Amino acid sequence: MNVEDALSKRGEKSYGFIEVGRTSVSTYRIPVVVIAGAKSGKTVGFLGGTHGTEYASIEGLIRATKELDPSEMSGNVIAVTILNGPHFEHRSAFLSPIDQLNQNRQFPGDPEGTLSKRTAHVVFQEVVSRCDALVDLHGGDIGEDIDSMVIAGGGGGEEVEKMAIDMACCFPTEYVSQLPASVSGLTMTAQKEYGIPCVTSEAGTPYPVRERHIQFHYEGVMNILRYFKVLPGEPTLANAALNPKGYRIKASNAGIWHGFHELGSRVKKGERVGEITDLFGNVLESHKAPEDAKVTFLRTFYSVNHGEALIGLTVID
Ligand SMILES: [Zn+2]
Repeated sequence: MNVEDALSKRGEKSYGFIEVGRTSVSTYRIPVVVIAGAKSGKTVGFLGGTHGTEYASIEGLIRATKELDPSEMSGNVIAVTILNGPHFEHRSAFLSPIDQLNQNRQFPGDPEGTLSKRTAHVVFQEVVSRCDALVDLHGGDIGEDIDSMVIAGGGGGEEVEKMAIDMACCFPTEYVSQLPASVSGLTMTAQKEYGIPCVTSEAGTPYPVRERHIQFHYEGVMNILRYFKVLPGEPTLANAALNPKGYRIKASNAGIWHGFHELGSRVKKGERVGEITDLFGNVLESHKAPEDAKVTFLRTFYSVNHGEALIGLTVID
């Protein structure tokens, strides 16, 4: 796939792969959809599968790209449906099975580096550098369950930061967290690198892939295209809380984790949210909600080691 050529074919949808490098026996390549609108306009980039097991986000993006009709578009979409193929194929948690790196800490990448670094470089060169805005779709990785929220990029100036928050509100989200501009290595580095607004949507868990999480990502993609006038119609902006207070409770002991609430449920101040027992069933530690809050992150593994995340609570109405 030559992205430049595909973008020049007005009114057409092109599918293909970009080659990144080789393993000893295979070619490492990235699946890309380029949808060149019938009329000119903004180009929006979408990345799915930067973490290859965050399936609801991948499915939401594939649905959107399948449905988009270039004859109705003023502008373009460049979508990588599964950026981290090895992670997707091997179902490893967080890290590429090839070089044991977290893909979303490698941007802007290195053309001489190992495959995760080369992938980051190629994605920035071939896709992101051609975009006016970037959306990276995520969710809970293996062992995590995350309810719907969006991270807006930091840096790039006041106007770009404001646009990133607007883009975040294009998802049907209750809250938006702003990434400090000092954080590096994420796809949102593009906000500092190219001065384009970036967001990362977070919703889902690998098992089960819930329809409401797929819809969250899908609606965000379509609504962002309305926001940039690539699609006709007015965008709907969520009335989301910005940087609400949150608690991430971590394990002081090791053993077995028992969570008491479903993802998305509301808990009252003082209510018990979970406990860790030893391997004989004795309670080692017990946790209560410090404030009225919503359960927005859950550990899905049964076993727990020192310092691992147990539950996330966000203070939203
Ligand atoms: Zn992720």
